[in-house]
Amino acid sequence: MHYQHLWENQTLAQYPLGKVVCVGRNYAKHAKELGNPVPSSPLLFMKPQSSLTHFDDAITLASRLGEHHYEAEIALLIGETIRFGDEIVPHQQIAGIGLALDLTLRHEQEAMKQQGLPWERAKAYDNACPITRFIPMSQRFDLTNMAFRFAINGEQKQLGNSQNMLFPMVELLASITEYFTLMPGDVVLTGTPEGVGVLQHGDELTLELVGEMSSYSKVVLR
Ligand code: ZN
Repeated sequence: MHYQHLWENQTLAQYPLGKVVCVGRNYAKHAKELGNPVPSSPLLFMKPQSSLTHFDDAITLASRLGEHHYEAEIALLIGETIRFGDEIVPHQQIAGIGLALDLTLRHEQEAMKQQGLPWERAKAYDNACPITRFIPMSQRFDLTNMAFRFAINGEQKQLGNSQNMLFPMVELLASITEYFTLMPGDVVLTGTPEGVGVLQHGDELTLELVGEMSSYSKVVLR
């Protein structure tokens, strides 16, 4: 199905598709597992709207591109324009909370990093951003303490909590807008905890925002 932002109850979220702004190395233990230094400011990159695909479905990935590695992350659907200098009022500017996989061609990324080249081919390819439906933003969400899990074939691979973010979500939004104005319909991926690895054809995937939502998917390599 052609991707559009959806609410948890499957109705259409009335926002256009925009850019996906991602942060690398926002959890210290994940930076460490890949042998990367912990950054002093957020390491930002983007995925285009053509990388978005529904998680709650099958995720079709091109096997010709090599191994696809998963990174489970909290995803924020932006509901109001946020420009540099605007006060961050998260419960007003964030329309919804979801989960996403920041899929990565790790071998390609390593090669590009070594050569000091940009990462787009490793991060921005088609279907490199499977994303769940969004739960409408609510006062009950504490952005500084949100737990999430990722499992493959019933085995937990990643367990994250936003309290371990190096750049908490409010700070992250402010930091992003120094460079990129955030528009309604944009998505922010907030970084992955440790436990990243490879997806295989036929893997059954579960993303869970603890206490809120579980979403299921399956990997199709072709
Ligand atoms: Zn990531």
